[in-house]
Amino acid sequence: MRRKIFILIFLLMVCGLKISYAEFNLATGKTESLLINSDQEEGMGASAAATVDKQFKTIEDVDINERVKKILNKIVKVCDRRDLVYVIKVIDEKDINAVSLPGGYIYVFKGLIDKVKNDGQLASVIAHEVGHITARHSVKRIQAAYGAMLLQLGSMAAGGRVASGVGLALDSIFSEYSQQDEFEADELGFKYLTKAGYDAKDMLAFFEILQKENNKKIGLYNYFRTHPYIGMRISNIRAKMKGGMEFREYLNLTGEKS
Ligand SMILES: [Zn+2]
Repeated sequence: MRRKIFILIFLLMVCGLKISYAEFNLATGKTESLLINSDQEEGMGASAAATVDKQFKTIEDVDINERVKKILNKIVKVCDRRDLVYVIKVIDEKDINAVSLPGGYIYVFKGLIDKVKNDGQLASVIAHEVGHITARHSVKRIQAAYGAMLLQLGSMAAGGRVASGVGLALDSIFSEYSQQDEFEADELGFKYLTKAGYDAKDMLAFFEILQKENNKKIGLYNYFRTHPYIGMRISNIRAKMKGGMEFREYLNLTGEKS
């Protein structure tokens, strides 16, 4: 019996070590320990996106779709992660929001498109979502949710891992990001936006529109539910535009949450 337990622990350790690997992430500039590789991430994202497509009505208007696709392509060309096929869709809801899934799937709500004054403001939102994807924020959340358990049960089949990840990917799409993830996505978004040739002022202008909407918090899928810390994010962008304090210096600060 003891021998069997020893063999089991040994196997779990070996498998556990095998499924975690280190990869340098260009977006974050860090070597990250990953359990989910890009192929698995894409599979998880595609399955979760299929469910979102079923649950929400997406806009079929050619002009609107071409507008968001054109902006996305400009951002993707200058982003840190070009191994993915990025997909963008517009959800026919009045909420002011945009969300992303692992593997390059971005959803913008029609309410947000109606609120922005120009392509630059829309690009600032899309660039922020691309930042969440390049920094693999959803993947890290999924890993954090079941990573430790998975490491212990290292012999789980790859298919099982992907299947359980889809549920977690869907759960995480409308839950809030951490302060650090939000600031990091802004930092990356700011970089991609300006590299793509848009005016950084549009990012600030969009935040100011959001701040005006802050008290209303209309709709089940409002922006503040998925992207908190808006006040601090505005301060960060202002500082960044003035060439002042770097984003990373804010990461240790705590404060308001909306
Ligand atoms: Zn965000």
